[in-house]
Amino acid sequence: KHLHPAPALAKCSSTETSLQKEDSATKNAKGFKGHDMLSPFTTGWQSTNLDPLLIERSEGPYVYDSNGRKYLDALAGLWCTALGGSEPRLIAAATAQLNTLPFYHSFWNHASKPSLDLAKELLNTFTATKMGKVFFTSSGSEANDTQVKLVWYYNNALGRPNKKKFIALEKSYHGTTFISASLSGLPVLHQGFDLPSPFVFHTDCPHYWRFHLPGETEEEFSTRLANNLEKLILKQGPETIAAFIAEPLMGAGGVIPPPTTYYEKIQAILKKYDILFIADEVICAFGRLGAMFGCDKYGIKPDLVSIAKAFSSGYMPIGAVLVSPEISEVIHSHSNKLGSFAHGFTFSGHPVSCAVALEVLKIYRERNIIEQVQSLSPRFQDGIRAFSDSPIIGEIRGTGLLIGIEFTDNKSPNDSFPPEWGVGAYFGAECKKHGMIVRSAGNIIVLSPPLIISPEEVEKIISICEKALKATEERVK
Ligand code: PLP
Repeated sequence: KHLHPAPALAKCSSTETSLQKEDSATKNAKGFKGHDMLSPFTTGWQSTNLDPLLIERSEGPYVYDSNGRKYLDALAGLWCTALGGSEPRLIAAATAQLNTLPFYHSFWNHASKPSLDLAKELLNTFTATKMGKVFFTSSGSEANDTQVKLVWYYNNALGRPNKKKFIALEKSYHGTTFISASLSGLPVLHQGFDLPSPFVFHTDCPHYWRFHLPGETEEEFSTRLANNLEKLILKQGPETIAAFIAEPLMGAGGVIPPPTTYYEKIQAILKKYDILFIADEVICAFGRLGAMFGCDKYGIKPDLVSIAKAFSSGYMPIGAVLVSPEISEVIHSHSNKLGSFAHGFTFSGHPVSCAVALEVLKIYRERNIIEQVQSLSPRFQDGIRAFSDSPIIGEIRGTGLLIGIEFTDNKSPNDSFPPEWGVGAYFGAECKKHGMIVRSAGNIIVLSPPLIISPEEVEKIISICEKALKATEERVK
């Protein structure tokens, strides 16, 4: 296959923006070239040579740019706005809290009522296993940083100072702070930053389609990966491995659901060697997969859980760590000995974030968000999977209201299109042209729409994808 017609792709590391440049339908804001913000995940070239896409307002599952163009936001911000972008109850909850107590900290046993109510509500919401305490953060990265410190503190308290190593999955995404980027298994997060830290080890990515051996069943694949995990543990010494962290379904690495029996087998190995399981639920939590948590969906019984994003439907920055009763107890008694549990953020338990998140959890329950996802997802999944026969699509995967489309040549995981072709980016730009925002990362497209979309909007997503696919097929001939 070749690109047709051969596009004059600008030399830059992210093809998305080079394609935005040639996509005349995406009229970025004028007058912001070389703006003053160091944009996350954007190259210097992009910030200085291109105007940004300025998003000005949101309404339900739609956002509007500064030219008044309307887009169906099929990524829900960054997998955040489960309740869409104009939920009046969340605005009212934030306003009421701003009028009462816009800020107070939670250090030295201070608290605000919304933070205490939210901690209780969250513990009631998570039922995969019993959790004991909640520690609030402002983001998913902070939650995962906190995980490592909690686990180290716990093992120090138990007199196991050598049990400090972490195992994470290749292609995982756990954030971008020093520790969470180290845990992440995406090389792009390490390059240029001297990461990962030496206490982190990465094991096989559980992507059956890409990595299974000829003739290997999904279950055999899971067994092989669990055996490899055990080999890594034995090589390092089980007495040195503290915890294993994984996203129940891997999100940013390319929407990778676990193969059959994977977590069953992984959990058995971890138990055998007294290694904690940390579930990073930052994307999966709160109904995205058609269950309240990814742990419910895949039978995971974690010791610690990280959440963020849809916890406040993205309206306020907030994340949290759920801590098992056993670990909470050890942390309490050790901190009594040390005189303090000296970890926390100024914005841990921020009253406005907590008030909004509390209302979000109420709405998820009242509107039965899980049933909503379960009723929409068959058509969403089937409609997108109907494109599986396309000669440029290798695999379509996902569950609930989350799906990934991977472009490859010859239907083979080994024949990825060259990154400079920007195949995913072209598809993304075509979607934008038709009024829809998706995530394109290399050859992978992610759709993760707000959970409140209507059946008509599901149809709209499918039909825009169909148009974008036709155009992309035309281009890659
Ligand atoms: N963990 C997962 C699974 C994520 O997808 C993300 C962000 O996308 C993070 C952690 C980091 O969250 P944040 O960007 O809020 O720091």
